[in-house]
Parts: sequence; C-alpha cells; structure tokens
Amino acid sequence: MTGENNLKVLFVSAEVAPFAKTGGLADVAGSLPKELALMGIDIRVAMPRYKLIKSDMEYVTDFAVQIGGKKETCIVRKEKTDDKSKNGAIGVPVYFIDSYNYFDRSGIYCYFDDAERFAFLCKAALEMLPRINFQPDIIHCNDWHTGPICMLLNEVYKDHPFYKNIATIYTIHNLEYQGNFSGDTLKLFNVGYEIFTPEKVEFYGMFSFMKAGLVYADILNTVSKEYSKEIQTERYGEKMEGVLQKRSEDLYGIVNGISYKEFNPETDPRIYRNYNAQNYKLKKDNKYALQRELGLPVTDVPVIGLVSRLSEQKGLELILDKLEDLMKLDIQFVLLGTGDEHYETAFRNAKLVYPKKVGVYIGFNTDLAQRIYAGCDMFLMPSRFEPCGLGQIISLRYGAIPIVRATGGLAETIVDFDDDNVNGNGFVFKEFSSDEMLDAIKRALKLYNESPDVWSNLVKRALVLDFSWSRPAKKYIELYERAIKKKSTKG
Ligand code: ADP
Repeated sequence: MTGENNLKVLFVSAEVAPFAKTGGLADVAGSLPKELALMGIDIRVAMPRYKLIKSDMEYVTDFAVQIGGKKETCIVRKEKTDDKSKNGAIGVPVYFIDSYNYFDRSGIYCYFDDAERFAFLCKAALEMLPRINFQPDIIHCNDWHTGPICMLLNEVYKDHPFYKNIATIYTIHNLEYQGNFSGDTLKLFNVGYEIFTPEKVEFYGMFSFMKAGLVYADILNTVSKEYSKEIQTERYGEKMEGVLQKRSEDLYGIVNGISYKEFNPETDPRIYRNYNAQNYKLKKDNKYALQRELGLPVTDVPVIGLVSRLSEQKGLELILDKLEDLMKLDIQFVLLGTGDEHYETAFRNAKLVYPKKVGVYIGFNTDLAQRIYAGCDMFLMPSRFEPCGLGQIISLRYGAIPIVRATGGLAETIVDFDDDNVNGNGFVFKEFSSDEMLDAIKRALKLYNESPDVWSNLVKRALVLDFSWSRPAKKYIELYERAIKKKSTKG
C-alpha cells in the first residue's frame, strides 16, 4: 500500500473557490486539497474553465476527447493556488479543463446540454492524466458532475495499464442534485447499454450521474455522519436510499472543515473591523457598518443573519410563515441569497413591508457574505435537510451564534446551549416546524437580552472553536487508504 505521505490524488469538482462558486462544494474543493497538500499528499485539482475564470494561465496540453460520435477539443491550463501571504504554504496545482463548446458561457450550471458538458469533464479529466504524466492512486470525485468517472474507470479503462489500479472515492455533498438524464446519455461515454440496469446506472428510466458514482466508487462518503445515516432512509434518500443501503458498509461521513486562513475575523480584509476572541467587542462595529450598508437603523438590536442559496432545502418557508411574529420582536433580520424566484420575491417584499427591520440583498456576493457573518449576532439555518452546512461553521468562526434545525451536519456541529451550557454553541430545534424555530429564536434572544455576560462568553467560545480542516483531512487520508485497499483486493 502507498504510505501516508506519498499518496497521489486527483480531486475533481465542478466548482472550486475562489475560481467558481455557487455553494459549499466550492469552499470544500478550494480548501480541503490545500490541507491535504500540507500533510504531504501530492494532490492536484481538476475543474472546468468557465468563462468567468481568466484564461491567461499556463498552457499545459491539448487533445481530442471522444464524446459519443464526435471529438471535442480539450485544452488544459494550470495554476497554483499558493498563498503567498504565509510562509510555508503549499500550492495545489489546479488544472482547468477548457472547451470552447462546453464551458465558454457566462454561467456554471443549468444549460440544456449539462449532461454532455459534464460527460466531457469526466472524460477529459481522465484523458488528461497520462498527458500531464500524473498517475494518481486515488481519484476523488465530488457530486453528480463527476460520478461517471467511477463508472468509466470500471467499465472502459479497467484493463488499461495506466488506469487499472486507480481507486476512487465519491463524496456526496448534496444528494438532491443527481444529474438524471435520458438513457441516451450513456452514448456520450461510449459505454455499452448492458449497464443500463437498475443494478448499475439506470435510475427510474434515466441515466443518473449520481448513481454512476454511488455504484462504482470504491468508497463513498458524505459530509457528515448524520447525513450518511439520513440518506439511507426514505425521508432523506431522494429515492437513492436503496442504492445507499446496499453500499452502507462502504459509506462514511466526515464533517467538513473550513479554511481558517480565508475565514479569519482577525485578518479578513472584507469586513469593516477585524477582531478576535480577546477584543471581540469590536465585532459590534461590524454590526453598525452592516446596518449602514443595508440601509437599516444603526442601533444595538440583535441582528439575525442568513446567507444562503434560496432553495426549498433551506427551510425558508418557516421564516416566511413566522415573519409577522418575528417582526414584533426587537430584532433586525438580514438576508443575502439568490435562487428560487418565489423566495427572492417574498424576501424583497419583506424588505418593502418592514424597511426598518429587514435588510435584503438578492444576489451572490462573497464580500457581503463575510460582512454579514461578522456583523450579525445570530445566524439562522432552519434547513429541511443539510448535508453538512458551512454557514453555521463560518458564523461560529465570526462569533455569530447559530440557530439551526437538527438535521445532517447541523445536528452534528451545533449543540443547544440550553441543553448543555458547557459545550453548547448555538440554539437547536428538532422538528421542521415554524413554531419550534420561533421558540429557538426567542430562547437565543432571551439569553442575549437578559444575560449579556453569558452571551459574551458564548461568543468568545465560538471564536476559539476549531472547525478547521486539520482533523477532517486526516480522516480523508484514512478513507484514501481504505479505498486503495479495497481496490487492490477487488483486483
Ligand atoms: P450549500 O452548499 O447547500 O449552498 P453551505 O452552507 O454548505 O450550503 O455553503 C454555502 C456557502 O456558500 C457558504 O460559503 C456561504 O457563505 C456561501 N453563499 C451562499 N449563498 C451566498 C450568496 N448569495 N452570496 C455569497 N455567498 C453565498
């Protein structure tokens, strides 16, 4: 087996921060590989070069990729993500898979030919490897866009001397997005129809990118232990529960970390005033600046923040359901998000009806996101389900106390303060109910208003908690070793 410090890993993701981001996947892909590199792993990242990413980086190679009956040109470019501000930081090479036809567009997802675009990513990432002279022990695939890599290795490349020993790990960041397309999609991969069966890649009559990962990867994992259990049930399994139950022995859960360098209230250039656990009172200046920025009265009321994709997953209807009750409380509510039009309109309206209590920015704005984490006192995540959730982790890092529903990673990372005032780091409600959410918010406000010293201690404790990658990255190395072992016994 390969020793811990000379593992070679290719990490493939459709989004990688800071290059392209729509959610937590990008944060993970931008920070976990760096931590693994610090631990001695030769890890390289591959992602598409979307139009929003500059193209003047180092040219590496180009070649043709067979996609069904045609050939498409792939150009590979490279950049190192080294952080020059800190001595000793190790750069991770990022290989950008460029195709004029597939990726030279303003957005990231939601095109009519997404199946073909990401089929291209999967094939190109594999075909690139001998050309860059990099033979990984592991390919680490992430979410539906990369699932077919596991299928291709087992069905197309299994006897190929370069590829046959490469093990795979497939991380589910969100089971809801599965990449299910018509059965014809299989043709794009030049794989025979004999695998279009329920045991393999067929999923209710469709070809499923997600299932191609779930069935063929040597090891599966998701981004919290809790979610790894939930997705094996009908309630959370998105119809994949049967597939996941079958593979439960190979299914692990590792809670995400965040980059403690990027998300650091002491140095973050995007926030109004830097602070730490010692001078945490300066955090208040960030609240006032945020209020000014969003046109709210500048006062010391508790500010509840929310930064999120506006999708059904995030439990936003619980907030809308209790909006009137919330507005009777002495609070301000600040929301940054983009997504379903229905929610965008509802929160824009909330701002119109309660201009002095609600601050809303509809859009994607990573700088404002940081100013909200730094400026708010509490951070709300009433999710219907949450594989890991980074919002609550980032908010703790900035001393904003999370109010969350106990699901997935939220259940695993947030301990209710009223249940456990030693380890408590937030306020938790169990059922997906707006009454329970309101009760948790009121409990948080009571502590904030009536016991300011206890609240301050909670904030100080949040500011020194360790949700960095150092522990989870070690667990990933264990999973890599496990995947290699599994692959070698499979032959
Ligand atoms: P998910 O991956 O389901 O979107 P996570 O909580 O895991 O949710 O991660 C969300 C990440 O995306 C966080 O870094 C959060 O700050 C960021 N984010 C979400 N919405 C926005 C937005 N509208 N503008 C800027 N950042 C956002």
